[in-house]
Amino acid sequence: MVATPIGNARDITLRALEVLASVDTLYAEDTRVTGKLLALHAISRSMKSYRDHNAAFAGGQIRKDLEQNRSVALVSDAGTPLISDPGENLVAQVIAQGFPVFPIPGPTAAVAALTAAGLPADRFFFAGFLPTKPNERRRTIREFEVIPGTLIFYEAPGRVGEALADLASILGDRPAAVARELTKIHEEFRRGTLSNLADYYQTTPNLKGEIVIVVAPPSTSAPTLDVASLDQRLTAKLAVHPVKDAAAIVAAELGIPRRVAYARALELKKANDPRA
Ligand code: SAM
Repeated sequence: MVATPIGNARDITLRALEVLASVDTLYAEDTRVTGKLLALHAISRSMKSYRDHNAAFAGGQIRKDLEQNRSVALVSDAGTPLISDPGENLVAQVIAQGFPVFPIPGPTAAVAALTAAGLPADRFFFAGFLPTKPNERRRTIREFEVIPGTLIFYEAPGRVGEALADLASILGDRPAAVARELTKIHEEFRRGTLSNLADYYQTTPNLKGEIVIVVAPPSTSAPTLDVASLDQRLTAKLAVHPVKDAAAIVAAELGIPRRVAYARALELKKANDPRA
């Protein structure tokens, strides 16, 4: 399993180049993409394709290669294979068949973003891509609410604003960073809180490039809750929104967990309308 660059073609290890040049059969997600990388490093060789939609066939070929004592390497288009890329089933099957599997480590966008985000790096959870449908996305984010570590997401540029807004409304206004185009000419980090990053990206049209979102862990110190302000804001929002939405809006405004705002919103609703 050979890691390749996530942008800058020189971010490849000497060992990766040796393996890519010398392995008996090289499988690539897209042979044209890997062909360009190899050409930059003066490697000219044949390749076969291994991607999600030919995985069953290519997996069979790889098994034959291994049975004939041929060495095999797998690369994806960029970064580390298996990390939001194909290869997971292949590795499990090959191990089950008794063949050894080795990593040739190198770049992965998640870890590159984490190392320069300015957020805790002692414990982190890589969450991959969030679902694209809003309801599913929110349900997924709720699963991450209690994880006591930094969260890392991959996201498409067209969805980064709405994803940040959902993250802010569910997780509270945590510190966060958005890393775009890592290791490339237009590399950019924006650091702030989820709500101010959401404001920025929701009002930035035609955003391009590849993106990683990094979100700080939940605060371990209990947030100092200004109850008067919470009640005032909730009462105003409850006049025009259902309980769930009012709680989500106010939680994002105050940077408190949504469940705290929701529990209080229910109490206020009941106090004002005992039948509710
Ligand atoms: N296997 C890759 C890795 O190890 O990072 C990830 C492949 S996944 C199909 C592609 C996603 O990774 C992009 O949509 C983006 O979220 C993230 N990504 C890849 N390269 C990136 C870069 N140079 N800068 C920021 N994000 C990147």
